[in-house]
Amino acid sequence: MKVKISAFILGVMISFSGYAQDQYQGSSAGIQHVYSSQISYAVKNIKPTKGKKVENVILMIGDGMGISHYSSAWIANNGKMNIENCMYTGIVKTYAADKLITDSGAAGSAMATGKKGNYHAISVDVNTNKPLQSLTDYAIAKGLSTGIVVTCGLTDATPATFCANNTDRDDEEELAADFTDCNVNFLFGGGRNKFHNRTSDKRDILAEMNDQGYTVCSTIDETLAAESDKILAILEEGQLPLASERGDLFQKATAKALEILDKNKNGFFAMIEGSRIDDCGHSNDLPKLVEEIGDFDRTVGQVIEWAEKDGKTLVIILSDHETGGLSITDGSIQDGQVTGQFANESHSGILVPVYAYGPQSNQFSGIMENTDIFEKIKKLLEL
Ligand SMILES: [Zn+2]
Repeated sequence: MKVKISAFILGVMISFSGYAQDQYQGSSAGIQHVYSSQISYAVKNIKPTKGKKVENVILMIGDGMGISHYSSAWIANNGKMNIENCMYTGIVKTYAADKLITDSGAAGSAMATGKKGNYHAISVDVNTNKPLQSLTDYAIAKGLSTGIVVTCGLTDATPATFCANNTDRDDEEELAADFTDCNVNFLFGGGRNKFHNRTSDKRDILAEMNDQGYTVCSTIDETLAAESDKILAILEEGQLPLASERGDLFQKATAKALEILDKNKNGFFAMIEGSRIDDCGHSNDLPKLVEEIGDFDRTVGQVIEWAEKDGKTLVIILSDHETGGLSITDGSIQDGQVTGQFANESHSGILVPVYAYGPQSNQFSGIMENTDIFEKIKKLLEL
């Protein structure tokens, strides 16, 4: 009873002060993270689309965002999320070719190429190690525009699976070199230190891509001002800052991507990732996790609103895997307060949800393999 009272008092204190506090409940119970939210933001109420034709696909990946992570943000935002505008939902199996517990390399490879990848591999065949074509390659071959927007480094596993091929995701300078062949129209993220000042060779990939016709940007203002149909925007040496320090960078970059890509009458494919949700799962940091998902969801709201106006854009929102084995043990929707507990600091084997908005979103209902995401997009865009 004493424990309950002290937990209650702690909860009340936190609901006024708005920060997280860890309570050590003993080894069997693990650590409970109490979070009283300050992320409260308005969500948009967006009408479903009526048409059937898909001209554009926007694949939005919340890296490491399981159903419990989504639930935490939903509670912290007083029971509302932009994702709820999605017309259909399904469940995705995340396992890798060689392991139950996947990583962003294997999972990204599955969604980018339609083939299950080995743990830590980037879009290569599991038997021959030969490069596999990704959705961006297929889209470019059909004359569509392509874009990648992430909040991590561009050579981190998820974006790399759409732009590079390697047996090892840690070979990031090699992955950066592969970007010279990717021909993606709009590339936005961090990770400049893999493109220049390289330790493995003296190549300056930024200069090489500039020579190929890319407008290379290093600030958000440069990015927003760029008018080229080939933009490489790398804002940081490492990852972009976490949501609390990032402001509306992710939303601005996403809006710019849509503006550039929508100029192509053949349509486009874009992959937009809330990359740092996964980092907060690894560090078992529930407050930062909730902020990251809030930032991702605000971007989702903006994208769905754009798609509603367009009418021919399919938006697919999902995760590559769950991180941390998060459970929700207490909280209050009214107070925006979440109490959570993590099982570990790694990925888990829990299946993840997929949410879809727009024409043909019904195709994303049911239980599916992560490779089906590739197959469905390829078919719908006739790639
Ligand atoms: Zn991870």
